[in-house]
Amino acid sequence: MTADETTIVERAREFLAGHDPDAMGREAFLRARYDAGLAWVHFPPGLGGLGAPRGLQAVVEREFDGTPQLDVGRQAIGLGMAAPTLLTFGTEEQKRRFLRPLWTGEELWCQLFSEPGAGSDLATLATRAVRDGDDWVVDGQKVWTSGAHMARWAIMVARTDPDVPKHQGLTYFVCDMHASGVEVRPLRQITGEAEFNEVFLTGVRLPDTLRLGAVGEGWRVAQTTLMNERVAIGGTPGRRGGGMMALITETWRTRPELRTHDLHRRLLELWVEAEVTRLAAVRLREQLAAGTPGPEGSGMKLAFARLNQALSGAEVELLREEGLAYDDWTFRRSDTVDFVGRGPGYRYLRAKGNSIEGGTSEILRTIVAERVLGLPAEPRADKDVPWKDLPR
Ligand SMILES: Cc1cc2nc3c(=O)[nH]c(=O)nc-3n(C[C@H](O)[C@H](O)[C@H](O)COP(=O)(O)OP(=O)(O)OC[C@H]3O[C@@H](n4cnc5c(N)ncnc54)[C@H](O)[C@@H]3O)c2cc1C
Repeated sequence: MTADETTIVERAREFLAGHDPDAMGREAFLRARYDAGLAWVHFPPGLGGLGAPRGLQAVVEREFDGTPQLDVGRQAIGLGMAAPTLLTFGTEEQKRRFLRPLWTGEELWCQLFSEPGAGSDLATLATRAVRDGDDWVVDGQKVWTSGAHMARWAIMVARTDPDVPKHQGLTYFVCDMHASGVEVRPLRQITGEAEFNEVFLTGVRLPDTLRLGAVGEGWRVAQTTLMNERVAIGGTPGRRGGGMMALITETWRTRPELRTHDLHRRLLELWVEAEVTRLAAVRLREQLAAGTPGPEGSGMKLAFARLNQALSGAEVELLREEGLAYDDWTFRRSDTVDFVGRGPGYRYLRAKGNSIEGGTSEILRTIVAERVLGLPAEPRADKDVPWKDLPR
């Protein structure tokens, strides 16, 4: 162990000796862990961290194994996207107000980015925020907002200047999901569940203290969120042969009557691909430890989506009719995406969204082509046209 590792292990053990989660209860335990700087060790002191190297997080997690854990499904947007954006662009006051309940899960977050007509081309979005004294008044419609029905806060991009080109007239806000004028309506998905929503914003008043970054700088702030989103979706390294791979190999081992030569070959190929993807995710995490995520995260998210769809497809083929029988079609407001806990039919249907959410595979290929491989950029005729003059 390095000196840094020894120190952090001692710190974690000392904390655990003085805090019994059974006696304190989950929330109080998590709050105390945050206050001790053992939440995300690379964050600054006072904000859940110790300003320590990011790589030490894994060491801390090992020490806290078996103690109350974060609900990473419900907290995914807060932890993966809102927290790094708040850390980079938030004022001291915003960081102190939002990060602790975000980390403990006492306040959940959603992401109000996509709109009808502004998905892949997010910079065309039309939701307006107009300054009125110390407030902003927001009007517009967002769509595909995962978890909006549970969220206390949202990260949101809105148009504050329609007279300048589309990327320049945007501003980034924290939206109060309990504010008057916020209406959340469920959208039912191919799985039958309503994991996401339409969100209508009508005359929503947000104080200027909820603005993140400078007026007109929303695109730059949003880039930080999107880069982190791709890593959050695609860059979480699992166990070797684990996750969806474990489910299909288990069926293969225990149900010899289902095996075919062709499926055997495909399963071997998928196993290799899963391992390559897993190792690439490990490398991406290591790169991340040295700085902020770059465009490489797009390649990772692409690989993750491809693999998940190939695995869930092979599993349904292996199980034949049994694989197609859907486990539960009731309309539900699900709060997490549980690939492993549900049946093969759910996995197959839900995996379709993997190549859309967090940026479609087509767009991510363009990012990899232009920003990783340095190939010539696609023509962008509307780059310098004021947003109000764009055809919509
Ligand atoms: C499960 C799920 C959860 C989501 N959660 C959220 C959320 O919480 N918050 C949020 O803000 N959004 C969320 N989204 C929205 C998601 O980010 C968008 O759906 C996505 O960015 C695509 O935008 P779009 O649906 O408008 O499709 P479009 O942009 O209309 O694209 C349609 C098709 O055209 C292709 N295309 C578009 N432009 C180009 C181009 N220049 N070159 C090549 N092909 C192109 C696309 O790749 C796609 O295949 C979620 C989506 C899903 C499926």
